[in-house]
Amino acid sequence: MVVGKKGEASRVDAASIRAMLDQKKQMKLFLSACAACGLCADSCFLYQNHRDPTYTPAYKALNSLGTLFKKRGKVTRAAMVEMKQLVWGKCVLCRRCYCPFGIDIASMIAWARAILRTQNIVERYDLDIRGVGPSPPEGA
Ligand code: SF4
Ligand code: SF4
Repeated sequence: MVVGKKGEASRVDAASIRAMLDQKKQMKLFLSACAACGLCADSCFLYQNHRDPTYTPAYKALNSLGTLFKKRGKVTRAAMVEMKQLVWGKCVLCRRCYCPFGIDIASMIAWARAILRTQNIVERYDLDIRGVGPSPPEGA
């Protein structure tokens, strides 16, 4: 991400996202092979716990990496922040999700995370969970 000038922090570098997407053609194959059957939901403990369709493995992959492929990286920063909620907030990358068609969903979610990181969109557990930054050093 380019930073320093006014407004640039809100930009998305679509060209670098495209370059990353082009590195992993297999991911595109996985996306086109998904039949949206929903069977992978049964193997995701987070889906089992929440019973919310946005927790199904396929939903998380299709609405993060799938969207990036579909739009060829031309997404807004706000859209990428929403993807962050899916790929970090609703997945722990335990790799338990099972697809009878052999789609490696966890690797798709992991690749979506990698792409988000290039845009400086990343889960900050110290900020995102507690809502505050790290404690200042003693005496500060
Ligand atoms: S990833 Fe596999 S199991 Fe999940 S919806 Fe797609 S085809 Fe079905
Ligand atoms: S890797 Fe993510 S989507 Fe797959 S089972 Fe684990 S939490 Fe669910």
